[in-house]
Amino acid sequence: MSFSTLGLRPELLRAVAAQGYTDPTPVQREAIPLVLAGRDLLAGAQTGTGKTAAFVLPMLQRLAATAQPQDQRRRIRALIVVPTRELAIQVEESVRVYGANALRSTAIYGGVGFGGQINTVRRGPEIVVATPGRLLDHSRQRTIDLGAVEILVLDEADRMLDMGFIRDIRSILALLPARRQNLLFSATFSKEIRALAEGMLDRPASVQVTPRNTPTDLVRQVVHPVDRGRKRELLSHLVRTHAIDQALVFTRTKHGANKLAEQLWQDGIATAAIHGNKSQPQRIRALADFKAGKVTLLIATEVAARGLDIEQLPHVVNFELPMVANDYVHRIGRTGRAGVEGDAISLVCVDEAPMLREIERLLGSPIPSEVIAGFEPDRSIPAQPIRIRTGGGGPGRQRPRTSGGRGAPTSQNRPRRFGQRGGRPTPAAATTSGRWVSLPGERTRR
Ligand code: AMP
Repeated sequence: MSFSTLGLRPELLRAVAAQGYTDPTPVQREAIPLVLAGRDLLAGAQTGTGKTAAFVLPMLQRLAATAQPQDQRRRIRALIVVPTRELAIQVEESVRVYGANALRSTAIYGGVGFGGQINTVRRGPEIVVATPGRLLDHSRQRTIDLGAVEILVLDEADRMLDMGFIRDIRSILALLPARRQNLLFSATFSKEIRALAEGMLDRPASVQVTPRNTPTDLVRQVVHPVDRGRKRELLSHLVRTHAIDQALVFTRTKHGANKLAEQLWQDGIATAAIHGNKSQPQRIRALADFKAGKVTLLIATEVAARGLDIEQLPHVVNFELPMVANDYVHRIGRTGRAGVEGDAISLVCVDEAPMLREIERLLGSPIPSEVIAGFEPDRSIPAQPIRIRTGGGGPGRQRPRTSGGRGAPTSQNRPRRFGQRGGRPTPAAATTSGRWVSLPGERTRR
């Protein structure tokens, strides 16, 4: 099936062809005609499925098809709310690329100066891509008017809820006109997402392209058991032996990301770190260097990496497993995209055995385990509890709000962490037996 059957106008088809896309992805195939028809949409699609074009293309067509009334010229007509600044930048770039700059657009996000954003908003963009916190800051300071929004997109809604943005989102909804088209994209559907959808969508069409919590089939997953103190050495070894050429590497904390980046530099591996303590220009530079191949390993925390669009990323490395099993699925969704095969490599130490079990329970099958020769784990080393910290890789206000205050997760919306049952803390990962669980198919690579 080609794009031309979806009802898109020639200029958009040209933009798509210029990107080298020949066929629409499943979410594009299903969503584009529905959005063009003006329907509200509840779409289950994770990053890597082509979801951005699935809402941007029909949105551009609808905006172009209806002229703005004279008194509404230079008012914001479409609002796309995303969880992170990186995603805001990327989605806005897609708007420009697909729209061939025919409509004015801008991205609004925290961590950078307010003044420049006020000026671009004054110039009257028709499309705004924004993170929730900074958008509300603008609204409170009356530097933005959302009273003419015709189309609203919530992108990666599950991530926004995980990050504690539900109250911000509700505040944003209250600023919009009642009559509008709403599109909600989410990789997973919790009770909270469904409640949000029920409140904001009007008789929505629904599209589901990724089976719930199932990583793409294009990703080969492997666990390399290793001692906690030898993970960095093993990662350097995998790079030196060309088992990994370029990879996005996840750590749990900002501190861990920095420390690892420094150590890998000492090993002679070109590395950059990307997390919430880095300035926006530093992050953009790191991403650009990585995309250009100047950097071999890009070390990222969970939140900083969300929504990163890096095409043809061959490897994702979990230097540390995530505290929330669902995040594993999101992490490995960074590879195996748009038809390109990818590897997700997890370096797992004895402390992480319970987390691994939880991930495998979520996946519904064990991840093949392969011991790398020379890095056999010392089975006499007992497990240590992993300190439960969020890592806070999030930028500025976008940090997950884990205690008190506005938007603090409730017992219902708080993601379940390892070592907790039914939301009540147990002595964390210390409950592990201190022994490796032997996994089916475990073998040693020589
Ligand atoms: P997204 O899920 O929107 O983050 O998109 C994932 C990646 O797929 C991006 O790098 C897009 O450029 C790419 N992409 C989107 N649509 C298509 C398509 N129809 N054919 C091939 N690649 C696509």
